[in-house]
Amino acid sequence: MDNLAGRIASNYALIEERVAAAGGRGRTRIVAVTKTHPAEVVRAALSAGLRDFGENYAGELIAKAEELRGEDLRWHMIGHLQSRAIKGLAPHVAVWHSVSRAKEMDLLAGLEVRAQLLVQVDYSGAEGRNGVPPAEVAALVDHGRALGLNVAGLMVVTPQIDPPARAEIFAATRELGEVLGLREFSMGMTDDFEWAVREGSTMVRIGRAIFGDRPAAEPAGAR
Ligand SMILES: *Cc1c(COP(=O)(O)O)cnc(C)c1O
Repeated sequence: MDNLAGRIASNYALIEERVAAAGGRGRTRIVAVTKTHPAEVVRAALSAGLRDFGENYAGELIAKAEELRGEDLRWHMIGHLQSRAIKGLAPHVAVWHSVSRAKEMDLLAGLEVRAQLLVQVDYSGAEGRNGVPPAEVAALVDHGRALGLNVAGLMVVTPQIDPPARAEIFAATRELGEVLGLREFSMGMTDDFEWAVREGSTMVRIGRAIFGDRPAAEPAGAR
């Protein structure tokens, strides 16, 4: 294993331990977020044994998926979905974490997508934030089910507030999903994943704690 793969493997092992210590062993999957990192980093992570990778930008996900075609891995789309990008993403994505509009579901259904799909919940109520308000989640889940989509769970990104306050958001998300019969909860990132795991997360999305700090600027054309 080269240096990079070795470093990724030891960072990942540490995350696994912390997930286990928070009660997530056998329940919480670790999705390695590779946004802004080149395909070689994904290759190194593959040789370190990682299999689940998250990307935020359609163009970047598709480029890496094509470069790594044939590898044994699963791509997770975790960023804001743009309708026009859905068709290009569909052949590559195993889990759609950020569905937040009926129109996106209509497009996914039209493409006969069988992949798991999560509805992103937004508690901030702020303009321009991705996700649907909690009060609208049930209707969107019903819409997806009526279309025959595999609506598996909920996803949430917390605002930059104290971890204890984030724990309340994670708990509220899990309760909301359980009422609707959903089992997957994509909750937790580098700064707060232990709080999320304690509240029932089944997928944590970890970037910096595995790969180090990202370059400040997103690569040109990534969106
Ligand atoms: C970037 C990103 C992550 C990973 O964030 P880290 O803080 O690097 O762990 C997780 N989820 C979403 C939606 C992201 O955009």
